[in-house]
Amino acid sequence: MDSLKMFIDNQWVKGSSGETIQTKNPANMEVLAEFPRGSTEDIDKAVQAASEAFKSVEWREILPAERSRILLRIAGLIRENKDELAKLETLDMGKPLTQAYADVEVAARYFEYFGGAADKILGETIPINSEMLDYTVREPFGVTAHIVPWNYPLQMTARSVAPALAAGNTVVVKPAEDTSITTLKIAELIEQTDLPAGVFNVVTGYGHEAGDALSQHPDIDHITFTGSVPTGSAVMKNAAKHIKSLTLELGGKSPNIVFADADLEEAANWVVKTIIQNSGQTCTAGSRLLVEKSIKDKFLERVTEIMNEVTIGPGINDKQMGPVVSEKQMENLKKYMEVADEEGTEIIRGGKAREDMTSGLFFEPTLVIPKSKDSRLAQEELFGPVVAAFEFETIEEALELANSTEYGLVTGIWTSNINKALWLSQRVRSGQVFVNNYGAGGGVEMPFGGQGKSGFGREKGLESLKHYTQVKNVAIKISK
Ligand code: NAD
Repeated sequence: MDSLKMFIDNQWVKGSSGETIQTKNPANMEVLAEFPRGSTEDIDKAVQAASEAFKSVEWREILPAERSRILLRIAGLIRENKDELAKLETLDMGKPLTQAYADVEVAARYFEYFGGAADKILGETIPINSEMLDYTVREPFGVTAHIVPWNYPLQMTARSVAPALAAGNTVVVKPAEDTSITTLKIAELIEQTDLPAGVFNVVTGYGHEAGDALSQHPDIDHITFTGSVPTGSAVMKNAAKHIKSLTLELGGKSPNIVFADADLEEAANWVVKTIIQNSGQTCTAGSRLLVEKSIKDKFLERVTEIMNEVTIGPGINDKQMGPVVSEKQMENLKKYMEVADEEGTEIIRGGKAREDMTSGLFFEPTLVIPKSKDSRLAQEELFGPVVAAFEFETIEEALELANSTEYGLVTGIWTSNINKALWLSQRVRSGQVFVNNYGAGGGVEMPFGGQGKSGFGREKGLESLKHYTQVKNVAIKISK
Protein backbone atom coordinates (compact mmCIF):
# COMPACT_ATOMS: atom_id res chain seq x y z
CA MET A 1 0.00 0.00 0.00
CA ASP A 2 1.35 3.42 -0.95
CA SER A 3 1.38 6.16 1.64
CA LEU A 4 0.73 9.41 -0.20
CA LYS A 5 1.12 13.04 0.83
CA MET A 6 -0.61 16.27 -0.16
CA PHE A 7 0.99 18.94 -2.31
CA ILE A 8 1.04 22.44 -0.79
CA ASP A 9 3.42 25.19 -1.91
CA ASN A 10 5.56 22.66 -3.82
CA GLN A 11 6.05 20.61 -0.64
CA TRP A 12 4.78 17.09 -0.03
CA VAL A 13 3.11 17.24 3.38
CA LYS A 14 1.33 14.80 5.68
CA GLY A 15 -1.47 17.04 6.89
CA SER A 16 -1.91 18.68 10.26
CA SER A 17 -4.08 16.01 11.92
CA GLY A 18 -1.78 13.13 10.97
CA GLU A 19 -4.94 11.13 10.14
CA THR A 20 -5.29 9.29 6.84
CA ILE A 21 -8.00 7.96 4.50
CA GLN A 22 -7.63 4.66 2.65
CA THR A 23 -8.66 4.14 -0.95
CA LYS A 24 -9.71 0.72 -2.26
CA ASN A 25 -9.73 -1.02 -5.61
CA PRO A 26 -13.47 -1.58 -6.19
CA ALA A 27 -12.75 -4.64 -8.34
CA ASN A 28 -11.42 -6.64 -5.35
CA MET A 29 -11.71 -4.29 -2.31
CA GLU A 30 -7.96 -4.36 -1.67
CA VAL A 31 -6.53 -1.20 -0.11
CA LEU A 32 -4.47 0.59 -2.73
CA ALA A 33 -3.13 3.63 -0.90
CA GLU A 34 -3.66 5.98 2.00
CA PHE A 35 -3.50 9.74 1.90
CA PRO A 36 -3.92 12.58 4.41
CA ARG A 37 -7.31 13.50 5.83
CA GLY A 38 -6.95 17.21 5.13
CA SER A 39 -8.39 19.65 7.66
CA THR A 40 -9.38 23.32 7.80
CA GLU A 41 -5.79 24.06 8.83
CA ASP A 42 -4.42 22.36 5.69
CA ILE A 43 -6.91 24.23 3.51
CA ASP A 44 -5.76 27.49 5.16
CA LYS A 45 -2.15 26.69 4.32
CA ALA A 46 -2.95 25.81 0.71
CA VAL A 47 -5.11 28.91 0.16
CA GLN A 48 -2.43 31.08 1.74
CA ALA A 49 0.24 29.55 -0.52
CA ALA A 50 -1.99 30.13 -3.55
CA SER A 51 -2.76 33.73 -2.47
CA GLU A 52 0.91 34.52 -2.05
CA ALA A 53 1.79 32.87 -5.34
CA PHE A 54 -0.91 34.94 -7.06
CA LYS A 55 0.69 38.14 -5.76
CA SER A 56 4.25 37.00 -6.50
CA VAL A 57 6.31 38.61 -9.24
CA GLU A 58 7.11 35.15 -10.66
CA TRP A 59 3.44 34.51 -11.45
CA ARG A 60 1.99 37.99 -11.95
CA GLU A 61 4.70 39.03 -14.36
CA ILE A 62 5.05 35.73 -16.20
CA LEU A 63 4.63 36.09 -19.95
CA PRO A 64 1.39 34.52 -21.21
CA ALA A 65 3.53 32.63 -23.70
CA GLU A 66 5.50 31.15 -20.81
CA ARG A 67 2.27 30.06 -19.07
CA SER A 68 1.38 28.44 -22.37
CA ARG A 69 4.72 26.58 -22.55
CA ILE A 70 4.30 25.27 -18.99
CA LEU A 71 0.81 23.94 -19.74
CA LEU A 72 2.03 22.28 -22.93
CA ARG A 73 4.83 20.69 -20.93
CA ILE A 74 2.25 19.30 -18.47
CA ALA A 75 0.32 17.86 -21.43
CA GLY A 76 3.53 16.23 -22.66
CA LEU A 77 4.32 14.77 -19.23
CA ILE A 78 0.80 13.34 -18.96
CA ARG A 79 1.28 11.58 -22.30
CA GLU A 80 4.76 10.32 -21.32
CA ASN A 81 3.24 8.81 -18.16
CA LYS A 82 0.04 7.54 -19.76
CA ASP A 83 0.56 3.86 -18.85
CA GLU A 84 1.02 4.58 -15.16
CA LEU A 85 -1.79 7.14 -15.04
CA ALA A 86 -4.26 4.88 -16.84
CA LYS A 87 -3.44 1.91 -14.64
CA LEU A 88 -3.79 3.97 -11.44
CA GLU A 89 -7.11 5.43 -12.60
CA THR A 90 -8.44 1.97 -13.40
CA LEU A 91 -7.32 0.46 -10.09
CA ASP A 92 -8.62 3.35 -8.00
CA MET A 93 -11.88 4.13 -9.80
CA GLY A 94 -12.75 0.80 -11.41
CA LYS A 95 -13.18 1.84 -15.04
CA PRO A 96 -11.96 -0.39 -17.92
CA LEU A 97 -8.38 0.31 -18.95
CA THR A 98 -9.35 1.50 -22.46
CA GLN A 99 -11.62 4.14 -20.90
CA ALA A 100 -8.85 5.15 -18.48
CA TYR A 101 -6.42 5.59 -21.41
CA ALA A 102 -9.04 7.77 -23.13
CA ASP A 103 -9.32 9.85 -19.93
CA VAL A 104 -5.54 10.31 -19.80
CA GLU A 105 -5.52 11.54 -23.39
CA VAL A 106 -8.42 13.92 -22.69
CA ALA A 107 -6.55 15.26 -19.63
CA ALA A 108 -3.51 15.91 -21.82
CA ARG A 109 -5.75 17.58 -24.40
CA TYR A 110 -7.14 20.00 -21.78
CA PHE A 111 -3.63 21.20 -20.91
CA GLU A 112 -2.74 21.34 -24.60
CA TYR A 113 -5.94 23.16 -25.62
CA PHE A 114 -5.83 25.76 -22.83
CA GLY A 115 -2.04 25.98 -23.10
CA GLY A 116 -2.59 27.05 -26.70
CA ALA A 117 -5.11 29.66 -25.55
CA ALA A 118 -3.07 31.20 -22.70
CA ASP A 119 -1.59 33.96 -24.88
CA LYS A 120 -4.84 34.60 -26.77
CA ILE A 121 -7.09 35.88 -23.97
CA LEU A 122 -8.20 39.11 -25.58
CA GLY A 123 -10.10 42.22 -24.54
CA GLU A 124 -12.14 44.54 -26.73
CA THR A 125 -12.08 48.18 -27.74
CA ILE A 126 -15.47 49.82 -27.40
CA PRO A 127 -16.49 52.89 -29.41
CA ILE A 128 -17.75 55.70 -27.14
CA ASN A 129 -16.80 58.96 -28.83
CA SER A 130 -13.74 60.52 -30.45
CA GLU A 131 -12.44 61.83 -27.12
CA MET A 132 -12.50 58.54 -25.34
CA LEU A 133 -10.50 55.35 -25.69
CA ASP A 134 -12.43 52.56 -24.02
CA TYR A 135 -11.13 49.02 -23.75
CA THR A 136 -11.56 45.87 -21.70
CA VAL A 137 -9.01 43.51 -20.23
CA ARG A 138 -9.69 40.02 -18.96
CA GLU A 139 -7.98 39.54 -15.62
CA PRO A 140 -7.63 36.35 -13.56
CA PHE A 141 -9.78 36.09 -10.42
CA GLY A 142 -7.00 35.15 -8.02
CA VAL A 143 -7.28 31.83 -6.19
CA THR A 144 -9.66 29.31 -7.73
CA ALA A 145 -10.97 26.28 -5.80
CA HIS A 146 -11.63 23.02 -7.63
CA ILE A 147 -13.77 20.35 -5.98
CA VAL A 148 -13.47 17.24 -8.12
CA PRO A 149 -15.79 14.18 -8.14
CA TRP A 150 -14.73 10.53 -8.23
CA ASN A 151 -16.09 9.49 -11.62
CA TYR A 152 -13.44 11.13 -13.84
CA PRO A 153 -10.73 12.23 -11.39
CA LEU A 154 -7.97 12.84 -13.89
CA GLN A 155 -10.10 14.35 -16.65
CA MET A 156 -12.04 16.63 -14.33
CA THR A 157 -8.97 17.87 -12.51
CA ALA A 158 -7.52 18.82 -15.89
CA ARG A 159 -10.82 20.21 -17.20
CA SER A 160 -10.94 23.08 -14.73
CA VAL A 161 -7.31 23.45 -13.63
CA ALA A 162 -5.95 23.93 -17.17
CA PRO A 163 -8.17 26.97 -18.06
CA ALA A 164 -7.71 28.43 -14.56
CA LEU A 165 -3.92 28.36 -14.93
CA ALA A 166 -4.06 29.49 -18.57
CA ALA A 167 -5.93 32.60 -17.41
CA GLY A 168 -3.34 33.31 -14.69
CA ASN A 169 -5.11 32.13 -11.54
CA THR A 170 -3.55 30.02 -8.81
CA VAL A 171 -5.42 26.91 -7.74
CA VAL A 172 -6.31 24.66 -4.84
CA VAL A 173 -7.73 21.26 -5.78
CA LYS A 174 -9.73 18.98 -3.47
CA PRO A 175 -10.08 15.58 -5.14
CA ALA A 176 -12.82 13.14 -4.10
CA GLU A 177 -12.02 10.94 -1.10
CA ASP A 178 -12.67 7.78 -3.16
CA THR A 179 -10.21 8.63 -5.92
CA SER A 180 -7.37 11.00 -5.04
CA ILE A 181 -4.40 9.09 -6.48
CA THR A 182 -4.23 10.46 -10.02
CA THR A 183 -4.73 14.09 -8.95
CA LEU A 184 -1.68 13.66 -6.69
CA LYS A 185 0.15 12.08 -9.63
CA ILE A 186 -0.63 15.21 -11.69
CA ALA A 187 0.99 17.22 -8.87
CA GLU A 188 4.10 15.05 -9.21
CA LEU A 189 4.24 15.86 -12.93
CA ILE A 190 3.60 19.57 -12.35
CA GLU A 191 6.47 19.60 -9.85
CA GLN A 192 8.76 18.71 -12.77
CA THR A 193 7.81 21.88 -14.66
CA ASP A 194 8.69 25.55 -14.10
CA LEU A 195 5.33 26.37 -12.53
CA PRO A 196 6.19 28.60 -9.56
CA ALA A 197 5.65 27.24 -6.03
CA GLY A 198 2.13 27.73 -4.66
CA VAL A 199 0.44 28.10 -8.04
CA PHE A 200 -0.94 24.53 -7.94
CA ASN A 201 -1.91 22.87 -4.64
CA VAL A 202 -3.77 19.68 -3.76
CA VAL A 203 -5.45 19.05 -0.41
CA THR A 204 -6.93 15.57 0.01
CA GLY A 205 -9.71 14.79 2.47
CA TYR A 206 -13.42 14.39 2.99
CA GLY A 207 -15.98 16.65 1.36
CA HIS A 208 -17.66 17.67 4.60
CA GLU A 209 -14.27 18.63 6.08
CA ALA A 210 -11.68 19.78 3.52
CA GLY A 211 -14.27 20.46 0.79
CA ASP A 212 -16.48 22.46 3.12
CA ALA A 213 -13.51 24.44 4.47
CA LEU A 214 -12.29 25.21 0.95
CA SER A 215 -15.65 26.36 -0.38
CA GLN A 216 -16.18 28.79 2.50
CA HIS A 217 -12.64 30.15 2.68
CA PRO A 218 -12.72 33.97 2.49
CA ASP A 219 -9.54 34.13 0.38
CA ILE A 220 -10.66 32.07 -2.58
CA ASP A 221 -12.15 33.95 -5.52
CA HIS A 222 -13.98 31.35 -7.59
CA ILE A 223 -15.21 27.77 -7.06
CA THR A 224 -15.61 25.07 -9.67
CA PHE A 225 -17.65 22.16 -8.37
CA THR A 226 -18.80 18.97 -10.07
CA GLY A 227 -20.97 16.47 -8.19
CA SER A 228 -24.44 16.01 -6.77
CA VAL A 229 -27.22 18.61 -6.53
CA PRO A 230 -27.38 18.63 -2.68
CA THR A 231 -23.62 19.11 -2.36
CA GLY A 232 -23.66 21.72 -5.13
CA SER A 233 -26.32 23.56 -3.20
CA ALA A 234 -24.22 23.39 0.02
CA VAL A 235 -21.19 24.72 -1.88
CA MET A 236 -23.34 27.53 -3.28
CA LYS A 237 -24.41 28.51 0.24
CA ASN A 238 -20.77 28.59 1.31
CA ALA A 239 -19.87 30.70 -1.73
CA ALA A 240 -22.65 33.14 -0.86
CA LYS A 241 -21.08 33.90 2.53
CA HIS A 242 -18.19 35.69 0.86
CA ILE A 243 -19.81 36.48 -2.55
CA LYS A 244 -17.67 34.12 -4.65
CA SER A 245 -18.40 33.21 -8.24
CA LEU A 246 -19.20 29.63 -9.13
CA THR A 247 -19.21 27.07 -11.89
CA LEU A 248 -21.53 24.18 -10.98
CA GLU A 249 -21.85 20.95 -12.95
CA LEU A 250 -24.45 18.80 -11.22
CA GLY A 251 -25.24 15.90 -13.50
CA GLY A 252 -28.35 15.02 -15.42
CA LYS A 253 -31.01 12.62 -16.59
CA SER A 254 -30.14 12.88 -20.24
CA PRO A 255 -32.42 11.44 -22.95
CA ASN A 256 -31.63 9.63 -26.17
CA ILE A 257 -34.65 10.38 -28.41
CA VAL A 258 -35.05 7.73 -31.10
CA PHE A 259 -37.39 8.20 -34.08
CA ALA A 260 -38.57 5.36 -36.31
CA ASP A 261 -36.68 6.84 -39.27
CA ALA A 262 -33.28 6.66 -37.55
CA ASP A 263 -30.46 4.20 -38.24
CA LEU A 264 -31.86 1.95 -35.52
CA GLU A 265 -28.90 -0.40 -35.23
CA GLU A 266 -26.54 2.56 -34.73
CA ALA A 267 -28.96 4.19 -32.25
CA ALA A 268 -29.40 0.97 -30.22
CA ASN A 269 -25.64 0.52 -29.93
CA TRP A 270 -25.21 4.09 -28.73
CA VAL A 271 -28.08 3.82 -26.25
CA VAL A 272 -26.18 0.95 -24.59
CA LYS A 273 -22.79 2.61 -24.94
CA THR A 274 -23.91 5.83 -23.28
CA ILE A 275 -25.19 4.01 -20.20
CA ILE A 276 -22.48 1.39 -19.69
CA GLN A 277 -19.59 3.84 -20.05
CA ASN A 278 -17.96 4.16 -16.63
CA SER A 279 -20.74 1.84 -15.34
CA GLY A 280 -23.24 4.64 -15.83
CA GLN A 281 -21.34 6.92 -13.45
CA THR A 282 -21.13 9.74 -15.96
CA CYS A 283 -22.91 13.07 -15.63
CA THR A 284 -23.83 12.87 -19.32
CA ALA A 285 -24.98 9.23 -19.19
CA GLY A 286 -27.87 8.53 -21.54
CA SER A 287 -30.07 7.42 -18.65
CA ARG A 288 -33.40 7.94 -20.41
CA LEU A 289 -34.53 6.44 -23.70
CA LEU A 290 -37.48 8.06 -25.49
CA VAL A 291 -38.50 5.88 -28.39
CA GLU A 292 -41.19 6.29 -31.05
CA LYS A 293 -44.14 3.97 -30.30
CA SER A 294 -44.19 2.26 -33.71
CA ILE A 295 -40.72 0.77 -33.17
CA LYS A 296 -40.68 0.57 -29.39
CA ASP A 297 -40.95 -3.20 -28.91
CA LYS A 298 -38.42 -4.04 -31.63
CA PHE A 299 -36.02 -1.38 -30.43
CA LEU A 300 -36.15 -2.39 -26.75
CA GLU A 301 -35.58 -5.99 -27.84
CA ARG A 302 -32.43 -4.96 -29.70
CA VAL A 303 -31.19 -2.84 -26.78
CA THR A 304 -31.72 -5.86 -24.50
CA GLU A 305 -29.76 -8.11 -26.88
CA ILE A 306 -26.85 -5.67 -26.96
CA MET A 307 -26.92 -5.38 -23.16
CA ASN A 308 -26.85 -9.19 -22.91
CA GLU A 309 -23.56 -9.18 -24.78
CA VAL A 310 -21.82 -6.55 -22.62
CA THR A 311 -18.68 -8.04 -21.08
CA ILE A 312 -18.13 -7.25 -17.41
CA GLY A 313 -15.00 -7.62 -15.27
CA PRO A 314 -12.28 -5.82 -13.33
CA GLY A 315 -11.18 -2.67 -15.13
CA ILE A 316 -7.66 -4.00 -15.42
CA ASN A 317 -8.96 -6.93 -17.56
CA ASP A 318 -10.42 -4.29 -19.87
CA LYS A 319 -13.92 -5.65 -20.40
CA GLN A 320 -16.66 -3.27 -21.56
CA MET A 321 -17.85 -2.52 -18.04
CA GLY A 322 -16.13 -2.53 -14.65
CA PRO A 323 -17.42 -2.24 -11.08
CA VAL A 324 -19.07 0.86 -9.60
CA VAL A 325 -16.72 3.01 -7.57
CA SER A 326 -17.65 2.13 -3.98
CA GLU A 327 -19.91 0.20 -1.62
CA LYS A 328 -21.81 3.46 -1.04
CA GLN A 329 -22.56 3.73 -4.75
CA MET A 330 -23.70 0.08 -4.93
CA GLU A 331 -25.96 0.59 -1.90
CA ASN A 332 -27.42 3.61 -3.67
CA LEU A 333 -28.24 1.52 -6.76
CA LYS A 334 -29.76 -1.27 -4.69
CA LYS A 335 -31.97 1.25 -2.88
CA TYR A 336 -33.14 2.60 -6.23
CA MET A 337 -34.08 -0.93 -7.29
CA GLU A 338 -36.24 -1.18 -4.17
CA VAL A 339 -37.83 2.13 -5.16
CA ALA A 340 -38.36 0.71 -8.66
CA ASP A 341 -40.18 -2.23 -7.12
CA GLU A 342 -42.36 0.02 -4.94
CA GLU A 343 -43.20 2.23 -7.94
CA GLY A 344 -44.27 -0.76 -10.05
CA THR A 345 -41.44 -0.31 -12.57
CA GLU A 346 -41.15 -2.94 -15.27
CA ILE A 347 -37.63 -4.39 -15.27
CA ILE A 348 -36.87 -5.52 -18.82
CA ARG A 349 -33.30 -6.55 -18.06
CA GLY A 350 -30.78 -6.54 -15.18
CA GLY A 351 -31.74 -4.66 -12.02
CA LYS A 352 -29.27 -6.38 -9.72
CA ALA A 353 -25.63 -6.81 -8.78
CA ARG A 354 -23.64 -9.72 -10.21
CA GLU A 355 -22.87 -12.36 -7.61
CA ASP A 356 -20.17 -14.20 -9.52
CA MET A 357 -17.53 -11.46 -9.69
CA THR A 358 -14.35 -10.54 -7.82
CA SER A 359 -16.24 -8.06 -5.60
CA GLY A 360 -19.87 -7.21 -4.92
CA LEU A 361 -19.66 -3.96 -6.87
CA PHE A 362 -20.53 -5.11 -10.39
CA PHE A 363 -24.04 -4.10 -11.51
CA GLU A 364 -25.88 -5.55 -14.49
CA PRO A 365 -26.67 -3.31 -17.47
CA THR A 366 -30.30 -2.54 -16.78
CA LEU A 367 -33.31 -1.50 -18.85
CA VAL A 368 -36.51 -0.46 -17.11
CA ILE A 369 -39.88 1.06 -17.98
CA PRO A 370 -41.00 3.37 -15.18
CA LYS A 371 -44.70 3.53 -14.35
CA SER A 372 -44.82 7.25 -15.15
CA LYS A 373 -42.60 10.13 -16.20
CA ASP A 374 -42.99 11.55 -12.69
CA SER A 375 -41.69 8.47 -10.86
CA ARG A 376 -38.32 8.65 -9.07
CA LEU A 377 -36.75 6.21 -11.55
CA ALA A 378 -37.74 8.63 -14.33
CA GLN A 379 -36.63 11.78 -12.56
CA GLU A 380 -33.53 11.11 -10.43
CA GLU A 381 -29.90 10.57 -11.36
CA LEU A 382 -29.08 6.97 -10.38
CA PHE A 383 -25.45 7.08 -11.46
CA GLY A 384 -25.42 3.45 -12.51
CA PRO A 385 -25.91 1.45 -15.75
CA VAL A 386 -29.71 1.87 -15.71
CA VAL A 387 -31.77 3.19 -18.65
CA ALA A 388 -35.37 4.26 -18.13
CA ALA A 389 -37.42 3.87 -21.35
CA PHE A 390 -40.56 5.74 -22.45
CA GLU A 391 -42.58 5.81 -25.67
CA PHE A 392 -43.86 8.80 -27.62
CA GLU A 393 -46.15 9.14 -30.64
CA THR A 394 -45.63 12.74 -31.74
CA ILE A 395 -42.61 15.03 -31.76
CA GLU A 396 -44.43 17.28 -29.28
CA GLU A 397 -44.72 14.35 -26.90
CA ALA A 398 -41.03 13.60 -27.35
CA LEU A 399 -40.22 17.20 -26.43
CA GLU A 400 -42.48 17.17 -23.40
CA LEU A 401 -40.84 13.98 -22.13
CA ALA A 402 -37.33 15.26 -22.85
CA ASN A 403 -38.00 18.42 -20.82
CA SER A 404 -39.85 16.63 -18.02
CA THR A 405 -37.00 16.47 -15.47
CA GLU A 406 -35.37 19.24 -13.46
CA TYR A 407 -32.08 18.54 -15.25
CA GLY A 408 -30.86 19.74 -18.64
CA LEU A 409 -27.37 18.57 -19.53
CA VAL A 410 -27.22 16.55 -22.77
CA THR A 411 -29.73 15.32 -25.38
CA GLY A 412 -29.16 12.76 -28.13
CA ILE A 413 -31.52 12.89 -31.13
CA TRP A 414 -31.60 9.97 -33.57
CA THR A 415 -33.41 10.61 -36.86
CA SER A 416 -32.75 10.86 -40.60
CA ASN A 417 -35.07 13.89 -40.80
CA ILE A 418 -33.08 17.10 -40.32
CA ASN A 419 -36.23 19.10 -39.65
CA LYS A 420 -37.18 16.95 -36.69
CA ALA A 421 -33.63 17.22 -35.37
CA LEU A 422 -33.55 21.01 -35.70
CA TRP A 423 -37.07 21.51 -34.34
CA LEU A 424 -36.21 19.53 -31.23
CA SER A 425 -32.72 20.91 -30.74
CA GLN A 426 -34.15 24.45 -30.67
CA ARG A 427 -36.68 23.57 -27.98
CA VAL A 428 -35.06 21.02 -25.75
CA ARG A 429 -33.75 22.15 -22.35
CA SER A 430 -30.16 21.00 -22.60
CA GLY A 431 -26.62 22.42 -22.47
CA GLN A 432 -25.54 20.22 -25.39
CA VAL A 433 -27.47 18.50 -28.19
CA PHE A 434 -26.06 15.69 -30.31
CA VAL A 435 -27.75 14.58 -33.52
CA ASN A 436 -27.02 11.02 -34.70
CA ASN A 437 -24.09 10.84 -32.30
CA TYR A 438 -23.57 11.30 -28.59
CA GLY A 439 -20.55 13.15 -27.26
CA ALA A 440 -18.79 13.93 -30.54
CA GLY A 441 -15.84 11.82 -29.44
CA GLY A 442 -14.84 13.70 -26.28
CA GLY A 443 -15.35 17.33 -27.03
CA VAL A 444 -12.60 19.25 -25.20
CA GLU A 445 -13.34 22.07 -27.64
CA MET A 446 -17.14 22.26 -27.12
CA PRO A 447 -18.73 24.37 -24.37
CA PHE A 448 -20.28 22.05 -21.81
CA GLY A 449 -22.60 22.67 -18.90
CA GLY A 450 -26.17 22.50 -17.80
CA GLN A 451 -29.51 24.17 -17.68
CA GLY A 452 -31.91 23.84 -14.73
CA LYS A 453 -30.58 21.72 -11.88
CA SER A 454 -27.71 20.49 -14.04
CA GLY A 455 -25.96 23.68 -12.94
CA PHE A 456 -24.57 26.79 -14.56
CA GLY A 457 -21.40 28.09 -16.08
CA ARG A 458 -19.59 26.42 -18.94
CA GLU A 459 -16.54 24.19 -18.99
CA LYS A 460 -14.53 23.06 -22.01
CA GLY A 461 -13.92 25.18 -25.09
CA LEU A 462 -12.91 28.84 -25.16
CA GLU A 463 -16.18 29.62 -23.37
CA SER A 464 -14.70 28.09 -20.24
CA LEU A 465 -11.91 30.70 -20.09
CA LYS A 466 -14.53 33.37 -19.45
CA HIS A 467 -15.29 31.73 -16.11
CA TYR A 468 -11.69 32.05 -14.97
CA THR A 469 -11.36 35.72 -15.85
CA GLN A 470 -13.17 38.89 -14.87
CA VAL A 471 -13.61 41.81 -17.21
CA LYS A 472 -12.19 45.22 -16.37
CA ASN A 473 -13.25 48.23 -18.42
CA VAL A 474 -10.80 51.10 -18.81
CA ALA A 475 -11.93 54.46 -20.24
CA ILE A 476 -9.28 57.06 -21.10
CA LYS A 477 -10.10 60.65 -21.94
CA ILE A 478 -8.04 61.86 -24.88
CA SER A 479 -7.03 65.52 -25.01
CA LYS A 480 -4.73 67.44 -27.34
P1 NAD B 1 -20.75 14.66 -3.89
O1 NAD B 1 -21.37 15.69 -4.73
O2 NAD B 1 -21.08 14.67 -2.44
O3 NAD B 1 -19.13 14.74 -4.02
C1 NAD B 1 -18.44 15.39 -5.06
C2 NAD B 1 -17.24 16.13 -4.49
O4 NAD B 1 -17.70 17.08 -3.52
C3 NAD B 1 -16.21 15.27 -3.74
O5 NAD B 1 -14.90 15.80 -3.94
C4 NAD B 1 -16.61 15.46 -2.29
O6 NAD B 1 -15.52 15.25 -1.40
C5 NAD B 1 -17.01 16.93 -2.28
N1 NAD B 1 -17.93 17.29 -1.20
C6 NAD B 1 -18.82 16.50 -0.54
N2 NAD B 1 -19.46 17.20 0.42
C7 NAD B 1 -18.97 18.47 0.36
C8 NAD B 1 -19.26 19.66 1.09
N3 NAD B 1 -20.17 19.69 2.07
N4 NAD B 1 -18.59 20.78 0.75
C9 NAD B 1 -17.69 20.79 -0.25
N5 NAD B 1 -17.35 19.68 -0.96
C10 NAD B 1 -18.00 18.53 -0.66
O7 NAD B 1 -21.10 13.27 -4.54
P2 NAD B 1 -21.04 11.79 -3.90
O8 NAD B 1 -21.62 11.76 -2.52
O9 NAD B 1 -19.67 11.28 -4.05
O10 NAD B 1 -22.02 11.03 -4.90
C11 NAD B 1 -23.43 11.11 -4.69
C12 NAD B 1 -24.16 11.29 -6.01
O11 NAD B 1 -23.74 12.48 -6.66
C13 NAD B 1 -23.92 10.22 -7.04
O12 NAD B 1 -24.72 9.11 -6.84
C14 NAD B 1 -24.26 10.94 -8.31
O13 NAD B 1 -25.65 10.90 -8.53
C15 NAD B 1 -23.83 12.36 -8.06
N6 NAD B 1 -22.52 12.67 -8.67
C16 NAD B 1 -22.54 13.34 -9.84
C17 NAD B 1 -21.34 13.62 -10.48
C18 NAD B 1 -21.31 14.35 -11.80
O14 NAD B 1 -20.37 14.21 -12.55
N7 NAD B 1 -22.31 15.13 -12.08
C19 NAD B 1 -20.14 13.20 -9.94
C20 NAD B 1 -20.15 12.53 -8.72
C21 NAD B 1 -21.36 12.26 -8.10
